[in-house]
Amino acid sequence: MIRQKIVAGNWKMNGSKESIFSLLSGLLEMGDSNSEVVIAPSFPYLSQVNALVDGGCLVLAAQNISDEVKGAYTGEVSASMLGDFGVKYVLLGHSERRAIYRETDSVVAAKVKVALEFGLTPMLCIGETLEERESNQTLSVCERQIQVVIDAVGIEAFENMVVAYEPVWAIGTGLSASAEQAQEVHQSIRAFLAKSSESVSQKVQILYGGSVKASTCSALFQMPDVDGALVGGASLDAKEFIAIVKAAG
Ligand code: PEP
Repeated sequence: MIRQKIVAGNWKMNGSKESIFSLLSGLLEMGDSNSEVVIAPSFPYLSQVNALVDGGCLVLAAQNISDEVKGAYTGEVSASMLGDFGVKYVLLGHSERRAIYRETDSVVAAKVKVALEFGLTPMLCIGETLEERESNQTLSVCERQIQVVIDAVGIEAFENMVVAYEPVWAIGTGLSASAEQAQEVHQSIRAFLAKSSESVSQKVQILYGGSVKASTCSALFQMPDVDGALVGGASLDAKEFIAIVKAAG
């Protein structure tokens, strides 16, 4: 099955009106691509970014949502609000949310459910810590993180989702998984999804994330089960990010 590649940039809590304007000006020079190119700015800049990319080659993502629909949840942002700003994707279960903000598997599953209800496409981030990898728990961790979501929304919902395999030890560390290591895990994730639905498993795009750079991503994109990349640090540099998009084809 041919799956379109996605290259997504997670800007995390970076940027200012000025720096985002100049980053976007660089990105908008990229022109058309065979891959879907997604950017995830911080909430306050969604409106600015949406206005600048309107109708262009970039697709908007948010970095988080509330697991509640609306009401007295000071400081939270709802899925429906994001729909108002042209957001298509939302990152959920990012390891920084799991580790720093103590988001459990069940909170992540609740957020996935709300996102889907309001027409957002979750990018479900999963992945093991270094300790878990060293004790051969990589697959059991990924499977547990996926199973909780299957239990909450059903396997068919994965047709409207993207999975991002992001080994925690590779995020922001400069230590990327090798193309072969990524392929091994991606293939296993697909095989795990296939136990619930073969057809869904073939459709789901599985992205790799963790210190992806222009200089090393070509081998990654050759792998049959790697359907793109979720890029953190390197997405803050227009030239570098465009080179990653070009390498994806
Ligand atoms: C991320 O935060 O999703 C990520 C992959 O970061 P980096 O590319 O900086 O490792």
